Amino acid sequence: MLETNNLTNTRVFYYFEEISKIPHGSGNMKGIADFCENFAKEQGLRYFRDEMDNIVIFKDGTNGYENSTPVIMQGHLDMVCQKTADSKIDFSKDPLELYIDGDFIKAKNTTLGADDGIGVALILAVLESKDFSHPPIEAVFTVDEEIGMLGASKLDMSKLSGKKLINIDSFNDACACVSCAGGADIKMHINLKRVIACGKKLKLSIDGLLGGHSGGKIKEGRVNANILAGRILACAKKISDFDIISINGGDKGNAITPRCAIELVVKDTEGFISKLEEVFENIKNELSDREENLNLTVSIVEEGNFQAIDKESRDKLINMLLSIPDGVLAMSKKISGLVETSSNLGIAATHDDKILLHSTIRSNKRSALEWLQERMFMIAEYNNCNVEASGHYPPWELVENSEMQKIFADTCLEIYEKEANIYATHAGLECGIFSGKIEGLDGIAIGPSAYDVHTVFERLSISAVNKFYDFLKVILAKLK
Ligand SMILES: [Zn+2]
Repeated sequence: MLETNNLTNTRVFYYFEEISKIPHGSGNMKGIADFCENFAKEQGLRYFRDEMDNIVIFKDGTNGYENSTPVIMQGHLDMVCQKTADSKIDFSKDPLELYIDGDFIKAKNTTLGADDGIGVALILAVLESKDFSHPPIEAVFTVDEEIGMLGASKLDMSKLSGKKLINIDSFNDACACVSCAGGADIKMHINLKRVIACGKKLKLSIDGLLGGHSGGKIKEGRVNANILAGRILACAKKISDFDIISINGGDKGNAITPRCAIELVVKDTEGFISKLEEVFENIKNELSDREENLNLTVSIVEEGNFQAIDKESRDKLINMLLSIPDGVLAMSKKISGLVETSSNLGIAATHDDKILLHSTIRSNKRSALEWLQERMFMIAEYNNCNVEASGHYPPWELVENSEMQKIFADTCLEIYEKEANIYATHAGLECGIFSGKIEGLDGIAIGPSAYDVHTVFERLSISAVNKFYDFLKVILAKLK
C-alpha cells in the first residue's frame, strides 16, 4: 500500500494503485475492463462494454447541472510494458511494484503505467465523487491506444451525446494539446526481375545519422538515409553504369531512417570509387551542421557474377527515391513551430522479386493529408509501381474560438497562476478519432505532470496529481 501524507486525494491514488495490480499491457485488456465494469455496477452507473472491451460509463449531472450538455472524459486502459534487463516481472500476470520516492510514484524496474493509468484513475474518482458539481459525464475508457489506437477506432460513438471532450492522456501541468496529426502508411512496390551482373560487388553504406521519431523529430531537419541513398545513386550513375543488388534502410515506417546499405555491381571500379568519395565529401560538408556523425563509405566486397535487379527497376528505384516527398512539407501558420504536413520514407527493403518503399505521411489538416496521399499515389503510378495506403487515422484540426480552450486558459491562471501553454502535436492522438466521429467536437488533451513515460524511468508527481484533480473540479464546474 502506498503511504504518504501527500496522497490527499486518496481515491485517485487508490484507483491508481488498484489499476497497477491488474496486468494491463496493450493486448491484455480483459482484467482492467472487468475492473471498470465492476466499478460501474457497484456505483449503480449505466455503462456499456463492447466486444473490444472498450467501456463507457455514464453519470448524471449534479444538482443544478441535470440539463447541462454532457462532457466526454476519456483515457486509455492499456500501458506500454518496459522492464530493466534484470527484472523478473511477467507483464501478462504480475502486478507492478509501486513505491514512493520523494514527490514521485515510481514502479520497481518497470514502466509505471501513469500513461494512462492516472487518466483512468482520475476519471474513476470523478465518477465516484459526491462532493463537487459537474455536468452529465460520459466516461470513455478505450483499449489498445498504444498499439495503433485500436479501441477508439472501433468504438461506436453514436451512443455519446457530448460535444466537449476532456482527454486525460497528456502529462504536463498547465498545458493543453488542442490539435494532432492524422496519418497513413503508403507502401510502394517496385516489381523487379533478376539479371546476372558480373564485375566487382561494392558495399555502399550510409550511417551515423540521428534518426528519431518521424512525428517528433522531423522538424529538426534530420536527414533520412533512404532519401540520401537516392541522391548518392543518382550521382553515382553520372560517374559510371552499375547494377544494384539490393537496398536496405530502416525497419519502421515512423522512424527517420538513420542508416541504409546498398550493394552495387560495377564493371570497372577504376576511378569510380575515388569520384564517389568526392561526392561523399561534398555531402558531408553540406550536412555537417545538422548531421555531424554522418558516415559514408564504399568498399569492394568481391568479384564475380551476381543476381542484380534489372535496369528498368533500378531506374524506377532511383526515380522514386528522388521524387517521393520527404521531411517537413509545410509549417503551421497558426501555431508557431508546429509542423503541419510531413512525410517520412521509413523503409526501403529489397525482397526477391520486389523492392518495398514505405512512407508514413502526416498532417494536422485533413485536406492536406488527402492531397499528400494522392500525390504519392500519382508518383508511384507514373513510375509504374504498385501502391497501397493503410493505417489511416484522422487529424484533430484546430477548433477556432474554442470554449474549452478558453475555460482551460482561464482556469490555468486561477489554479496554476500562470499562462496556459496551448499547443498542437504532429503525432496522432485518440482525440483525432473522436473529432472524426463526433461533429463539432471541442476538446482538450490534458493531465498532471509525469516524466519519461514509456521507459523504466517513468514517474508521476504526487503534488501535480493533487493540484490537477482540484483543477479538473474547477473546469467541470464551469461546464454548466
Ligand atoms: Zn497514453
